[in-house]
Amino acid sequence: MGKVVGIDLGTTNSLVAYVRDGAPVVIRDKSGDALVPSVVSVDEDGTSYVGREAVRRLSTDAARTVYSVKRFMGKGVDDVQGEARLLPFAVRGEAGGVVRIGLGGKEFTPPELSSIILRELKRRAEAHFAAEGEFDFEVDRAVITVPAYFNDAQRTATRDAGRIAGLDVLRIINEPTAASLAYGLDKRHTGVIAVYDFGGGTFDISILRVEDGVFQVLATNGDTHLGGDEFDALLVQRELARCGDAMLSAEQIQDIRKAVIHAKIDLSDGERTTLLGRDFTRVEFEAIIRPIVDRTLAPCRQALADAGLKPSEVDEVVLVGGSTRIPLVRRLVGELFGRTPHSELNPDEVVALGAAVQADILMTGNREMLLLDVTPLSLGIETMGGVVSKIILRNSTIPATGSEMFTTGVEHQTAVDIHVLQGERELVQDNRSLARFTLRGIPPMPAGMPRVQVQFQIDANGILSVTATELRTALEQTVEVKPSYGLTDEEVERMLIDSFEHAETDFAARLLIEAKNDAESVVQATEKTFRLPMFAEIAAEDLAPGEQKRIEQALIGLKHVMQSSNRDAILQWTKVLNDATRHLAEVVMNRSVKEALAGKNVEQI
Ligand code: ADP
Ligand code: MG
Repeated sequence: MGKVVGIDLGTTNSLVAYVRDGAPVVIRDKSGDALVPSVVSVDEDGTSYVGREAVRRLSTDAARTVYSVKRFMGKGVDDVQGEARLLPFAVRGEAGGVVRIGLGGKEFTPPELSSIILRELKRRAEAHFAAEGEFDFEVDRAVITVPAYFNDAQRTATRDAGRIAGLDVLRIINEPTAASLAYGLDKRHTGVIAVYDFGGGTFDISILRVEDGVFQVLATNGDTHLGGDEFDALLVQRELARCGDAMLSAEQIQDIRKAVIHAKIDLSDGERTTLLGRDFTRVEFEAIIRPIVDRTLAPCRQALADAGLKPSEVDEVVLVGGSTRIPLVRRLVGELFGRTPHSELNPDEVVALGAAVQADILMTGNREMLLLDVTPLSLGIETMGGVVSKIILRNSTIPATGSEMFTTGVEHQTAVDIHVLQGERELVQDNRSLARFTLRGIPPMPAGMPRVQVQFQIDANGILSVTATELRTALEQTVEVKPSYGLTDEEVERMLIDSFEHAETDFAARLLIEAKNDAESVVQATEKTFRLPMFAEIAAEDLAPGEQKRIEQALIGLKHVMQSSNRDAILQWTKVLNDATRHLAEVVMNRSVKEALAGKNVEQI
């Protein structure tokens, strides 16, 4: 028996959590990071890199590095034309088929790329359990979250990604539902919950109703291109404008980006910080980003209107997503709904925590109330004249079943086409086509004689299977509805085998990644020290002549070798920088202690 985890597979960041002694906890790496950037890079030789390591390759190997894969899950080429034009990597695929992303001479489907992220999370969790001394540390099952608006194709693609990563996906659940679960809001008898999710590249608002453990999505709205990235881009532009027309390398721009993100994050906690050597205050920052934050409010009002609710009828507001750490965001959301939003849990961890809670409920059956969701769109089949006959109505609590009887319209008809559709409109052409299949082998009978029963079944993940049975002959055919933009079972199987074949190169890559991550930690710590307000004083008073220069050279050396794949060189230079900064670190430490003590003395007087 392996372990079960909850996974938030995000557009910008992904993470994994599990329930320990009855409470959900996120799994962190050695340096305390829970978030794995949802970035994947694939080398010419097929070696893959994930997370922070892949982020580093964004500036050195952009054409082989992909981000925001979640945007392509369950999509066809035609769906993503506009999006693809703006991206540095190649988005391809046959018309009417699955999207394929070209990286280093090889093509990958979105579920395959997502599976690389999931495999990293699985590995992290296994390393964690092994380090805890667990004998049985293999992670083989997971609950994975998706946005509430994800359709059948996008959910299936997510489940496929899990399977390719070697995970049995127990359940796909909605992100806002997961966030509500993390706060235990399913224990309310009844109530309305607004989940405001402001992440890296997307904004989602969901209005949910919970009633006796059943979560119903009343309305969703949002903007698929509105998130923290926008703040970063705006701040970078401002800095570039300050540089005049100076030509900057991709790497220099990347450094500016890093600096503005640092400043942004600092200002979520403090009133002021330094940005590229200048003073930067929260007041200035808020004035810059205010128009972007304001753009989240209209979708909130629209979602409320769609749900037929006034802001005052919302009982709980939940904040999700890293960008809700910004005080201005919290303030404006609080004003809109007229109540203080929940923010006791880390907003970028809360979805994974909820997924872990759901995984635990599934495993232990510990909670009497079963958590249920509803299907967001009606499902039906095409009947005569291009009309849709609905078999399961929207907002049905899942798992759900429905069936209807049909017959033939032509004499001696031996086959019937079943065309499965999703949507609310009356005409076939206005709904989304999910699948087509044919029930064959009906013995010739007069028109109207055969009795064909079409049965729909939506499982707990919101994934549909359809059975057609001719009752007079007991002829039956079942399809698990593979959305038009989905992978076949054989493809998923082959991808799983492929991933095993790469296990060895991936192991070498892992050692390299670990070396680079350690190097990155030292680089960041050093750069942070340089930015300290007290640094100028330290440099003047405590450092030996040439000491700062030595550190700077070690820093440049390490940053240079970090671009390469030479692990030995990286280890060596990490040591050089570590040695060069040892004295500086002591000085900083002593000064901080002194300052703290001085503060105490003042209080005591
Ligand atoms: P997603 O769900 O979209 O994958 P997250 O919820 O992890 O992403 O949000 C990532 C975004 O949150 C990034 O734009 C990041 O810069 C931003 N972010 C993270 N921490 C903070 C903070 N302390 N202050 C402001 N923004 C933050
Ligand atoms: Mg998210």
